[in-house]
Amino acid sequence: MEMRFTWPLLLLLLPVALLLSGQGVRAAHTGDFQHHRYEELVRALFSVQSECPYVTRIYSIGRSVEGRHLYVLEFSDNPGIHEALEPEFKYVGNMHGNEVLGRELLIQLAKFLCEEYRAGNERITRLIHDTRIHILPSMNPDGYEVAAQQGPEFNGYLVGRGNFREVDLNRNFPDLNALLYYYEKSNGRNHHLPLPDNWEEQVEPETRAVINWMQNYNFILSANLHGGAVVANYPFDKSREIRIRGKTTYSATPDDKLFKKLAKTYSYAHSWMHKGWNCGDYFEEGITNGARWYSLSKGMQDFNYLYTNCFEITLELSCDKFPPASALHKEWMANREALISYLEQVHHGVKGMIYDDNNNPISDAVIAVAGINHDITSGADGDYFRLLLPGTYTLTVSAPGYQASTKQVTVGPAEAILLNFTLKTAPKGTNQNLKSQHSKKSQTTAKVSAANPGPR
Ligand SMILES: [Zn+2]
Repeated sequence: MEMRFTWPLLLLLLPVALLLSGQGVRAAHTGDFQHHRYEELVRALFSVQSECPYVTRIYSIGRSVEGRHLYVLEFSDNPGIHEALEPEFKYVGNMHGNEVLGRELLIQLAKFLCEEYRAGNERITRLIHDTRIHILPSMNPDGYEVAAQQGPEFNGYLVGRGNFREVDLNRNFPDLNALLYYYEKSNGRNHHLPLPDNWEEQVEPETRAVINWMQNYNFILSANLHGGAVVANYPFDKSREIRIRGKTTYSATPDDKLFKKLAKTYSYAHSWMHKGWNCGDYFEEGITNGARWYSLSKGMQDFNYLYTNCFEITLELSCDKFPPASALHKEWMANREALISYLEQVHHGVKGMIYDDNNNPISDAVIAVAGINHDITSGADGDYFRLLLPGTYTLTVSAPGYQASTKQVTVGPAEAILLNFTLKTAPKGTNQNLKSQHSKKSQTTAKVSAANPGPR
């Protein structure tokens, strides 16, 4: 559930926010970067919100075990509103409480977007006008406080990694990979896989909050910021094979080429990630398939891809999980362009509206790309976004009760191609209009054929 701020609380925080905003601006210019404990993080977010009130909004997606809010700062020309054809993007930091660089980078990013918007920076202004950007600097505020209590010098490898109950949140999402790998063999569903009925009892409050968040927003692209290595890691994290000792196997998604390109966008825009040698490890071009590195189950990035329309990668940003404050400015400069470039990737591929023949938008229509066994769906406003590399593709759109529609499209390297679909109502007597007279079995068959069009 989403929570809005009540006015009295906002007014209470406003003077603090105004006071700090001056400092924030100065800090950005002098490189005087600091770590932010929970209260400071909240103040920093409200400071940005008060500096850029017309293009930002703060909301909470829920609370941690210890009751800390999971605050999101949103940037948009119409904060709080999804505009059709405007893609939703998210950054998630500090999922592991002791991996703190992402948290600080996202605070800096928020300040930067606000300052540059105010200064009239064309690139940033366009980004804010054309994108709805959601920034969650800390998914694990409780773990952070445990790690920060120890400070940078004394921080161990694991202290503060998990949440308050010491559960690793990146091993806490429902395991949809197992289901997908089974479906792959039986030609089953290839997107929006179902959650177990009792999933809410199986996950931690922070995980539940993030899953609810994903259910409420049609995110298209995302990155999840970690530390302990320097590499852009892309799905799948979970291996398809049972692990043989000492051997790891590449676990490609149907969108493998696209994920590689997304990961490279970050690694090459980063000052040194692409060079490959970092923290005593070597990753060619600064990227890796998750399972190829080491297989993990119940991670967040695979869940994004299998449960939503969102493509997420995991960014490992520093050798040192808790770098000293003196390193933060250099890290910001190394990551700034990468964070912006990666965000801009949400504007590639194909997007458009799905209408019925009365021009009413159709939500939850299924968009299939021939040759890529991963469908996506249209959002509540009937808009869809399909990230794709440059090339020519055949798209088929289908929805229950309508005739499927197929179109060819050529995607270039620039902005997303606009391609709308109008679906005709399926004629009476066809499989789409089967009602109670027909057996359950034939209805099921009709549904499956509508949801999985094209040659597969
Ligand atoms: Zn991590």
